[in-house]
Amino acid sequence: MKGLILCVCQGTCPSFQKMNVFEILNHFRREGKVDFVAIHPQLCATDGDNFWKTLLKNGEDIEKLFVAGCDPVMQKKMFGWTFKELGFDEKKFIGIEIRNMTTDEAIKAIEEAMPNGVKE
Ligand code: SF4
Repeated sequence: MKGLILCVCQGTCPSFQKMNVFEILNHFRREGKVDFVAIHPQLCATDGDNFWKTLLKNGEDIEKLFVAGCDPVMQKKMFGWTFKELGFDEKKFIGIEIRNMTTDEAIKAIEEAMPNGVKE
């Protein structure tokens, strides 16, 4: 299964104000590009670890995990140890920067990070 998770700095940060996060998720649901979607307000907080622990309990079922939010390098630093602890293969994780983007720009950035790229 492939999943797309949006993380939005509590939804109050100006970096996520130009986009409609629900429209982004609906786009990927409509296109059938992923098998599940979710939004989390703050994955880098303590309860974000609980989210990963719950989601990745059966991490072997997950083929790719796209996380759209802040800088992918930052994401890797923040989530890497949890993935390791849970035995989740970090190669399945793809972080995508969408800060300060509009809805369309964020959709494009996420599509570009997907194996088949942007649909023409
Ligand atoms: S993980 Fe990144 S996008 Fe999510 S709340 Fe933390 S800083 Fe913001």
